[in-house]
Amino acid sequence: MTDDNRYDAVIAGAGPAGAAAACVLARAGARVLLLDRAAFPRDKLCAGLLTWKTTDIVERLYGSGAATLLTQGILEHRADRYRIRHKAMTLACQDLFFPFYFASRRVLDAWFLDQARQAGATFRCGEAVAAADIDRGEVVTQDGARYQGRFLIGADGAASVVRRAFPVRRETFAANMGLGLECHVRHDDPDILAAHPDLREAFPTVYSGFVRTGYGWVFPHGGHVVVGLGGICPRQGGAMRREFAAFLDFLGLPGSHVERSKAHLLPYGNFLTRPGHGKALLAGDAAGLVETLFGEGIYYALRSGELAAQAVLAGLSGGDACESYMAGLRRDVLPELSGSLRLRQAIFFSLRFGPFPLWVLLRLGGQRLVEMAHGVRSYRWLRRRADGPGRAG
Ligand SMILES: Cc1cc2nc3c(=O)[nH]c(=O)nc-3n(C[C@H](O)[C@H](O)[C@H](O)COP(=O)(O)OP(=O)(O)OC[C@H]3O[C@@H](n4cnc5c(N)ncnc54)[C@H](O)[C@@H]3O)c2cc1C
Repeated sequence: MTDDNRYDAVIAGAGPAGAAAACVLARAGARVLLLDRAAFPRDKLCAGLLTWKTTDIVERLYGSGAATLLTQGILEHRADRYRIRHKAMTLACQDLFFPFYFASRRVLDAWFLDQARQAGATFRCGEAVAAADIDRGEVVTQDGARYQGRFLIGADGAASVVRRAFPVRRETFAANMGLGLECHVRHDDPDILAAHPDLREAFPTVYSGFVRTGYGWVFPHGGHVVVGLGGICPRQGGAMRREFAAFLDFLGLPGSHVERSKAHLLPYGNFLTRPGHGKALLAGDAAGLVETLFGEGIYYALRSGELAAQAVLAGLSGGDACESYMAGLRRDVLPELSGSLRLRQAIFFSLRFGPFPLWVLLRLGGQRLVEMAHGVRSYRWLRRRADGPGRAG
């Protein structure tokens, strides 16, 4: 291997996790190689909802606040209200103390990648990692190219190739892998006029009652609405597509939208509690680091990417990168995922008895749930963050 193929850090995957890690490392002066199988801009199936904690970390990492990004077209839409339904029944419809923002991942991820490149990271697209050696920090691409890092970060998404080299039981990880299905309905699509009025609202609605462990969504974006259904679906595929067809039927959308829909894996409760091994760290979806109730992953991808980069910097200065990464995850990430998992178990269990228990929970604690989703309040012990926006509760 030539010196040209050796780096301080090789990062597989240039989504939010990989791009954030690359940016933090390059700014600190490390030699970084970022590999992605796709050419950017690329699509990523996602409802594109950004909570307060996401816009907060974006501002901290990249210096641009949500309002600025909206003006620049990096974000597409802002909503100041939300609704939760159980099928047709409205369980909650409230103003938000902090807005939800919506982004197209094609645009947002390309912007994240630009920040990493401007910081000095080398990016190579069309380089699909085919195998990883986590003891040597090395990857081999499908075209046979080899790259070695003093450290390797696997940020190659839910179906991570780097994760295959980790001592992780595939069956255990797969058991809690969810699936998300989505279609886009344009505002000028004639079907939208005849469809459910929720599709014409400027704010998001989420729906229980269409899948046992998961939920449906209708999210407004710039010129279109994203309609989706996600959650755990044993043996995947077919059953989830049938649930999605029933959801679209409820919304008054014709079956052609099911045919046009796309699916993507969604880690949904299978987060790894030890995503560091040898010279390699896993970040974002590759480690299953996704909030387990709403399936929110962009924040956790950015935060774990940042933590992985800081751990690599510690490793480059002679420290223990894996331990440093674990300390950051144990402090900021894993307790939130465990806390949201407990809440999700309680909520989805209660729905077996119909929507009434959830209605009561939302009447008593709807504001707290929104605060937890935004990250203003912890899923663990309901502790409130001192620096978050909105009113104290
Ligand atoms: C239907 C759906 C809706 C969602 N909605 C939301 C939402 O509204 N809000 C939210 O916060 N989160 C949402 N999520 C979750 C969110 O999309 C993910 O958690 C987030 O994208 C994780 O970022 P990442 O960088 O870890 O992985 P990704 O964004 O998946 O990026 C991984 C990158 O790795 C590349 N790659 C993959 N394999 C290889 C390989 N072998 N070699 C090289 N490169 C490779 C890919 O091309 C990609 O660019 C949703 C997910 C789904 C499925």
